[in-house]
Amino acid sequence: MKFFVATKNAGKIKEFSRLFCELGIDMMTESDLSAPLPEAEETGDTFNENALIKARAGAAFTGLPTVADDSGLCVDALGGMPGVCSARYAGVHGDSAANNKKLLAELAGVPQEERTAHFVCAIACVFPDGREFTVTGKCNGTIDFSESGDRGFGYDPLFISECGKFSEISAEQKDKISHRGMAIRLFKEKINEYL
Ligand code: IMP
Repeated sequence: MKFFVATKNAGKIKEFSRLFCELGIDMMTESDLSAPLPEAEETGDTFNENALIKARAGAAFTGLPTVADDSGLCVDALGGMPGVCSARYAGVHGDSAANNKKLLAELAGVPQEERTAHFVCAIACVFPDGREFTVTGKCNGTIDFSESGDRGFGYDPLFISECGKFSEISAEQKDKISHRGMAIRLFKEKINEYL
């Protein structure tokens, strides 16, 4: 069985390939296509809606069952921001250095006990015949006062999970507790109903 993963994010592709490997599902990405995947506009107000927008666009473009995720960081002291705007929090899509800098600035003066946050990952699966479903994973933690660590991507250098900072733990440890790991496990349970 072949699935297309509709993301351009190299960090996510790595995490999906490890996890899909266990399912015995062949994973195709944009680099396997002869034409670039058109950018789907993420106009949804929720992670679920945006994941569905991306998966529907991928399935329409490739004709393959398509999986897409939408994920982000919700910080309690910021009323849930950056939320669905996580990738473009500082203005430029995917500029993690600028996003982290802005997050630290927004949280300046916020004490340790009020720096609670959670990552969310919604995964949508869309089949060419129109069937579709979504699952959602969550991971709680806190936002550190400075960046450290050289693993992972995005907000990982700032996010302290129950097992340590995401940028300092191994990929395997991250998979076990992360929002994406949880969503993939829920996905694995659900996908069997559709195969
Ligand atoms: P998306 O491509 O719209 O889902 O963007 C998600 C954004 O949220 C990414 O660009 C990162 O900034 C952030 N993000 C999502 N998951 C993670 C993670 O596991 N670690 C760090 N940042 C993440």
